[in-house]
Amino acid sequence: MSLDESLVSRFVGGLRVAVIGAGPAGFYAAASCFKVKDLPIHVDMFERLPSPFGLVRFGVAPDHDKIKSVSRVYDKIASHDNFRYFGNVEYGKDLTLEDLLSHYDHVIFAVGTQGDRALNIPGENLEGSVSAREFVAWYNGHPDYSDWKIDLSAKAVVVVGVGNVALDVARILAKTTDELKPTDIACHALDQLRESKVEDIYILARRGPAQVKFTLHEIKEFGDFENATTSVRPEDLELEPGSAAELERNKLAKRNFDVLQSFSETVHTSSGRRVHFLFKTSPVEISGDGQVESMKVVANKLEEQEGGYIQSVATDTFKDIPCGLVMRSVGYRGTPLAGLPFDEKRGVVANTNGRVVDAPGGAQIPGLYVAGWIKRGPSGVIGTNKPDAQETVKLMLEDSASREPCENRSPDSIVELLKQREVDFVDFARWERINAHEVAQGEAEGRPRVKLPTAEDMLKI
Ligand code: NAP
Repeated sequence: MSLDESLVSRFVGGLRVAVIGAGPAGFYAAASCFKVKDLPIHVDMFERLPSPFGLVRFGVAPDHDKIKSVSRVYDKIASHDNFRYFGNVEYGKDLTLEDLLSHYDHVIFAVGTQGDRALNIPGENLEGSVSAREFVAWYNGHPDYSDWKIDLSAKAVVVVGVGNVALDVARILAKTTDELKPTDIACHALDQLRESKVEDIYILARRGPAQVKFTLHEIKEFGDFENATTSVRPEDLELEPGSAAELERNKLAKRNFDVLQSFSETVHTSSGRRVHFLFKTSPVEISGDGQVESMKVVANKLEEQEGGYIQSVATDTFKDIPCGLVMRSVGYRGTPLAGLPFDEKRGVVANTNGRVVDAPGGAQIPGLYVAGWIKRGPSGVIGTNKPDAQETVKLMLEDSASREPCENRSPDSIVELLKQREVDFVDFARWERINAHEVAQGEAEGRPRVKLPTAEDMLKI
């Protein structure tokens, strides 16, 4: 990208950009800023937690270490001369929108999604019905979940949904602690999983095996457990014409299907854990006396809609699955941010291609942008956030032509403000010390790291 000269002369010293959120989208937004030629862009990144990397640290499953190595790319971005990191700074508490707009020419929110889609069925809020997002945050050592309680004394668990998150949580429940120990799983989770009584894990898909959302690598792992077997009911693999056509068209869907087919011959034994995929099955009600005891499910048939979408339609065949734990894994949802309009329908900050607008489809609010899941919703893999952030930054630069430079242009003034407010912010060098501490603790135990469980523990380093 190159820019016209008037911009360079107006934003003396370069453009000042605040990025809120230190996950993949935030880092890719910073990287896009640093690719701009002719105009220096200074990026200050603010993160509520002391540690950066968002879902790479707290979302990616502990046994998916390779995916986590993307943090090295973010380390490199953080080493840019024009980058500063401010961890342990909470938007809306330590800094307001007004503070940001007076110190930065543009603000990009890349805070991800902090909520869950609901099932909207009776019993959803019973004790023992949890969201996969909470379980993931807990086993990944997210500081907000260090005291979270989960009862793993149930023999049967139902996981609702067939996206990659559903597979992550089911896999963590199915694995032995010997399989999990060499990972960076939180110590509290490993201790509790060691005592787990879970024997049967039911994964419910409302549609068929041709409509799954998970990816090939993730489903293949279900054939490789040390002490668990995976089954698919052969009748679930009988395809109606719409699904058969889908597999003809979509090679990835066909490869997923082939793996599922290989599970149809599984004969579960009484030893070891058993994972059961139940396709064309929807939850209807969760029941129990204060605590989850069973789930009523309905068998679905599939119907092709206009446009080719394969829809599940409930039949009148019901069944009860006795279970003590339900994990709802039907998608994340954004939550509103102070001072920003929210699009309730999509569960994201109201925006058009990353420009924040005053209402869905409405007028742009100058200076405010979004990137990542709070922009487009919870979809795609980590790399998807790169083009997404590039799009936002491109529009932000276009808008700079009509933007007045912010009032406080000194890089020191935000530091002064945070100090005045006694915010114990973590810069990148301090994060690197926290990181080195965790890695050293891990080395002693043959693990990639031992995560510090709370923000206070991190701040002590
Ligand atoms: P997702 O991929 O959108 O999957 C959501 C699942 O929930 C779908 O199977 C959906 O079925 C189902 N569902 C939605 N509403 C339902 C309802 N009312 N009743 C029953 N089922 C319902 O979401 P996700 O698993 O949370 O993943 C979010 C994103 O993160 C995805 O892009 C995913 O690939 C990514 N991710 C990637 C990895 C990885 O690369 N290893 C790991 C974790 C997450 P329908 O299809 O019928 O709507």
